[in-house]
Amino acid sequence: MNILIFGPNGSGKGTQGNLIKQKYNLAHIESGAIFREHIGGGTELGKKAKAYIDRGDLVPDEITIPMVLETLKSKGKNGWLLDGFPRNMVQAEKLWEALQKEGLTLDYVVEILLPRETAKNRIMGRRLCKENNNHPNNIFIDAIKPDGDKCRVCGGELSSRSDDQDEAAINKRHDIYYNTQDGTLAAAYFFKKLAGEGKTKYIELNGEGSIDSIKETLLSKLA
Ligand SMILES: [Zn+2]
Repeated sequence: MNILIFGPNGSGKGTQGNLIKQKYNLAHIESGAIFREHIGGGTELGKKAKAYIDRGDLVPDEITIPMVLETLKSKGKNGWLLDGFPRNMVQAEKLWEALQKEGLTLDYVVEILLPRETAKNRIMGRRLCKENNNHPNNIFIDAIKPDGDKCRVCGGELSSRSDDQDEAAINKRHDIYYNTQDGTLAAAYFFKKLAGEGKTKYIELNGEGSIDSIKETLLSKLA
């Protein structure tokens, strides 16, 4: 099973991705990991990509798309879940073209829907328990709201990651994600249109539910 997943930062995409990956034994392929693999591994494409990065330039799609394809083919023989790519409309079109050329199927495209304001609050509301990283706390999610200013699980001290409080950086990422003209949502809608033509299947999930309810819906639709 080959799956593409879309969702804004703050939507729980990583968590859902991990659950799907475990259930279907898929290779979870994240865009960052693709770059690390090629650049760290010193592949030909990786060397070309590194030259752009070293100059502070964006790596062009002519290099990124083949890197993605190579990783899907090498790591995803038993199926893959691609996460974090494509980021824009042009990449979506090029990826689709490349998948078809390689004879790779795209069984499902998953979109986690979450209003932009909610996504931002969820990021900024994250709190880390100093006693245990696995104690989730979020001041904007009722189910895991801290107990006052203490961890809801163990009563430990809470802190927040500076990245999560960087509103400008969050806005910048969301500007790209929520752009329905040529950004990431435009890419998602490109696949939604293909699903309308019977070329893949498109699953929309309401990201405002709990992790478990989203997971249940997702698994029932994938089956
Ligand atoms: Zn705790």
